[in-house]
Amino acid sequence: MHDVVIIGAGPAGLSAAFWCDQLGLDTLLLEEGEEVGGQLHRVFNPINNYLGLQAANGEELLKRFAARIDEADFDLWTNVAIRNVDLRARRVVLQSGEELQSICIVIATGVRRRNLNIPGEKEFVGRGIIESAARDKQLFAGKDVCVVGGGDAAAENALLLAEVCPTVTLVHRGKSLRARREFRDDLQTKHCITVFKEAKVQRILGGEKVEAVEILRAGAIKPFQMAVGGVAIRIGVEPNTDLIRGQLQLDELGYIMIDALQQTSVENVFAIGDVANPLAPTISSATGAGATAAKVIASRLQQAKG
Ligand code: NDP
Repeated sequence: MHDVVIIGAGPAGLSAAFWCDQLGLDTLLLEEGEEVGGQLHRVFNPINNYLGLQAANGEELLKRFAARIDEADFDLWTNVAIRNVDLRARRVVLQSGEELQSICIVIATGVRRRNLNIPGEKEFVGRGIIESAARDKQLFAGKDVCVVGGGDAAAENALLLAEVCPTVTLVHRGKSLRARREFRDDLQTKHCITVFKEAKVQRILGGEKVEAVEILRAGAIKPFQMAVGGVAIRIGVEPNTDLIRGQLQLDELGYIMIDALQQTSVENVFAIGDVANPLAPTISSATGAGATAAKVIASRLQQAKG
């Protein structure tokens, strides 16, 4: 019986495990991937807004986290496949059949990129689908490219690609971009960027590599093809709640509902980080939420032990 089992070792889960350990709790952190760090592995731009620490990218920030985490004494299991979780019983069953029991569970499973679910999207991964403009833009230098989406991620990717690509076409389904003003202003000043609003990319086409996209604009009967050498799809994220769906309250977007103490609708089950925070999915919020959950759990267990 552990005091706490934490599922997911991104910034939120790492912070919760670190704090739980500091507070003397018997803590087990489970991570399905080979490494801890979660989305930090996919941050390729400089991190300048984490108070007190600056890093060239997510990996560098993770190294700094790891330096402290290595000194902590909690149990960390990576490469762990979870078969199911019974939140009310606070029981986690692994694919291996092993059963883990704890007094509290902390869900820190994060989010994943949303897919367009169109032909070509999966087929051209590694062959023209742009995983990260910050990391890979030089691979697309000199090529015309397309970016799908209307939020900060789409705008930021379009601006990065505009540094090296002759044309960038931003295709957005809505009437107005959701991206922040600073990005919207920058998009207007870049002459190589064209924004198609009320338009949809319906297919990604090519042979060995991406060669074109098929776009349908509002009011048009037929789509048209546009030659491109790369496509970045940045249409937001969705929470990783497959393991616990149906067992606790989610909001209309599928994020876990929590109170100010990170408590979910199930007693002694907490949720932290992006999986419970659609409005402020930042590293700072995630690590703060981890600390809050740990403090609440520690005081709860202390009270229970008298
Ligand atoms: P957002 O949820 O902010 O935006 C997603 C965009 O994709 C919306 O414009 C949405 O359209 C569109 N979209 C959603 N589903 C579809 C679909 N099926 N087909 C076509 N278009 C679709 O996600 P982001 O990834 O841009 O940003 C996520 C979070 O990360 C935000 O909090 C953002 O601020 C942050 N972020 C911050 C950055 C920075 O500070 N440098 C950089 C990148 C992200 P519609 O508007 O019509 O709903």
